[in-house]
Amino acid sequence: MSLAIQIRQNGGPEELQLVEVQVGDPAAGEIRVRHHAIGLNYIDVYQRTGLYPFPMPLQLGMEAAGVVEAVGEGVTHLKVGDRVAYASNPPGSYSTERVMPARCVCRLPDAIGFETGAAMMLKGLTAQYLLKKTLPVQGLQRGDAVLFHAAAGGVGLIACQWARALGLELIATAGSDAKCQLALANGAAHAINYSTEDFAARVKEITQGQGVKVVYDSVGKDTWEKSLDCLRPFGLMASFGNASGPVPPFAPASLGGRGSLYVTRQTLFTHISTRESTQAMADELFAVVESGQVKIHIAQRYALADVQQAHRDLEARKTTGSTILTVD
Ligand code: NDP
Repeated sequence: MSLAIQIRQNGGPEELQLVEVQVGDPAAGEIRVRHHAIGLNYIDVYQRTGLYPFPMPLQLGMEAAGVVEAVGEGVTHLKVGDRVAYASNPPGSYSTERVMPARCVCRLPDAIGFETGAAMMLKGLTAQYLLKKTLPVQGLQRGDAVLFHAAAGGVGLIACQWARALGLELIATAGSDAKCQLALANGAAHAINYSTEDFAARVKEITQGQGVKVVYDSVGKDTWEKSLDCLRPFGLMASFGNASGPVPPFAPASLGGRGSLYVTRQTLFTHISTRESTQAMADELFAVVESGQVKIHIAQRYALADVQQAHRDLEARKTTGSTILTVD
């Protein structure tokens, strides 16, 4: 038996209920893993509210670290007893134990603890594909200016550090002065409190009227329009989330008048759709974390049973960095 957090219908945090579920043996291509720490992500909120629809009942959670307990037929890269971590689709990591596809799961280097592993896989792989794989034409060069919204959050703090390691000039936005300070302390070159300042005007000022090459926007509805005004000609709008609500429909012609802009909306799960791509990206993530270039900040911990409060705090913008759900 496993303890798990389930929702039976979409709604508020009160829908998150602790239940006991049966966990069977892994089928071919699957493993059974016992979790030591679970990562909280904003995508869990979208799945809970129904913005990203799933069949019910739904066991939430897309990130965790733990130990392999059983291995199904055909799984060759993992064995019983391995320390592992993952970002997974389908969800189900809000649990003490689960059966899941082995292709999402990577062995965790000895130097990386379970909590760090659970705090960095979905968020770190996302920061990585945004900075390194999202601009297909000419890529980013050292010295390029980019704008990263919600930069003091889970994905954001990792992106700030990784951008510094890549030599990028990352302009951060965040919802308070304290969060701006945190982004600066983690490698952002500039930080704008978008609750009190006109971020588009400040970006123009910082870049001497040029604009940035890429805007990374996970805030969505509230930042979309002004973000387009921050781009230089042929710049890329990389929309990757909807924390303030989904981006409304827009006219493609509006991109032309603003300087022939590109728009993309990607998801991590396309980048890690195969075992090979997952491992290649994870190896690179593990390397930057082990080198100390990227530190994983776990700023909040909640017991799995207190997940309702964790969701409330995340949605109320009270968290910074990564959040962990703990299991005994
Ligand atoms: P965060 O820790 O970044 O939390 C979300 C942050 O969004 C808040 O802390 C807040 O920061 C900001 N925000 C702005 N407006 C609102 C609002 N109205 N309500 C709530 N929050 C708001 O979350 P994660 O690190 O888990 O994820 C960051 C984003 O990246 C999410 O939107 C997530 O869905 C997206 N994502 C997308 C992926 C993809 O592949 N497409 C993969 C992983 C994550 P502040 O107060 O500073 O504004």
